Amino acid sequence: MTSPPAFRLLPEVTPETEAFWTGGETGELRIYRCRSCRHWFHPPTPACFRCRSREVGPEVASGRATVAAYTVNQHPWFDGFPPPYVVAIVELDDEPGVRLTTNLVDCAIEDVVVGMPVEVVFEHRDDVWLPLFRPVAA
Ligand SMILES: [Zn+2]
Repeated sequence: MTSPPAFRLLPEVTPETEAFWTGGETGELRIYRCRSCRHWFHPPTPACFRCRSREVGPEVASGRATVAAYTVNQHPWFDGFPPPYVVAIVELDDEPGVRLTTNLVDCAIEDVVVGMPVEVVFEHRDDVWLPLFRPVAA
C-alpha cells in the first residue's frame, strides 16, 4: 500500500490558488469555473481562456476523477519522502480535459491503471490541504 509521505514541499498560496489549497478544510475540491460559459479550468487564472470573461472563481467540484497518466517514482529525491510513490495526472469527472497533477494513495502501486476511477482525499499540512486521490471503493 502507498501511504502519505512524511515530508512534502508545500505550495505557495496566492489569492488565486487559496481556494484550491484550503478547500480540504471543509472537504471541498475547489476548482475555478467560468460564470459565463460554465467551463471548469485549472490552474486558476484571472480570466477564462475560452470566452475571456473575467467572471471566474472557485466552485466546488465533485472530487471524482479518472487516472489519465501516471508514473512511479523510484528515486529518493527528498529525505522523508521515500520511494516508491505514484505521481498521477487525473482528469476531473466534472469536465474532460481539466487535469490535476497529484499523488495516488491507499492503493498498491501494481494496481494503478490508466482509466481507474479515483476520488479526492485531503492531506493537511500547515496552512494547506493537499488534494490527493485514492481509488473509488467498488
Ligand atoms: Zn468562459
